[in-house]
Amino acid sequence: MTVPAPLVRRLAVVGAGLIGGSLCLAARSRGLAQRVAVIERDAAALAEASRRGLAHEASADPGAARGADLVVLAVPVGAMGEAAAAVAPHLAEGTVVTDVGSVKGAVLAAVVPALPFPARFVPGHPIAGRERSGAAAADADLFEGALVVLTPEPRTDPACATAVRALWAGAGGRVLTMDAAEHDRVFAAVSHLPHVVAYALVGALLDLEADQGPLVRFSAGGLRDFTRIAQSDPIMWRDICLANREPLLKSLARFRHVLGALEAQIAAGDAAGLLQALARAREARRGMSS
Ligand code: NAP
Repeated sequence: MTVPAPLVRRLAVVGAGLIGGSLCLAARSRGLAQRVAVIERDAAALAEASRRGLAHEASADPGAARGADLVVLAVPVGAMGEAAAAVAPHLAEGTVVTDVGSVKGAVLAAVVPALPFPARFVPGHPIAGRERSGAAAADADLFEGALVVLTPEPRTDPACATAVRALWAGAGGRVLTMDAAEHDRVFAAVSHLPHVVAYALVGALLDLEADQGPLVRFSAGGLRDFTRIAQSDPIMWRDICLANREPLLKSLARFRHVLGALEAQIAAGDAAGLLQALARAREARRGMSS
């Protein structure tokens, strides 16, 4: 892909984790920014960011955002407000700010009051990731072909949305826009619910093991496949669950209803009903890309 380079002179990314680190690497390797600075409070993550050469500058000082055309907040959802407040005194009137949080309503509520120029904030969420977290897992190609959702508000300056769109397109993303509430409803169902269910399943197996003795060591690929996402970072998922509480609770209620129906069919020996429910789900699963 040909990228009009560089898109920004100075890019500052707050949070040298999987997503922030990957964006730094993508920006460097694809020439999206003349200069990349990463801001990270954790000494070990900062050292790893320097060791891997994620950015031209790696610093614990939020003042490294000074002079940036574009600032990306890439910290856990519960830390977004704090991260925005830390960089706020260093933002110029022209600086565009975006974030990568997995929940949009709560991030808007936390970040907007902390920023001096709210119209220049463009909320975003790259739909890319993996179970590993931290700077060590950063990958320049993480966003190649990935969907990136932006949730600009009516007050958002369209030129800022265009700049953020160009950054993600340059990193390989397929960018679309959505209303923040719609985003949170959709991702509660397709991402947050499956993570909670995976964590719950592992929790249930631990409880069963406490009662019955060893179980998990007898498992095969099915359990591994199903619970892969329960290896994800617990802080990140705690924040997502609490920040997207209402839509997630709605999705969980629907899941409990469907699980309850399956349980009732099993208890009643309802072979026809059970077969119909399993076949319906298999058909739908086969229609999804693997
Ligand atoms: P991560 O690998 O754990 O990285 C987060 C980094 O932010 C850590 O180095 C953390 O340092 C740092 N941090 C936390 N609070 C901070 C603060 N107040 N100021 C500066 N740095 C701070 O997490 P990630 O997977 O990159 O996730 C980052 C964001 O991306 C989250 O909002 C998440 O919802 C979103 N996201 C994640 C994925 C995914 O699959 N991982 C996908 C899409 C979007 P400490 O160790 O000191 O906490």
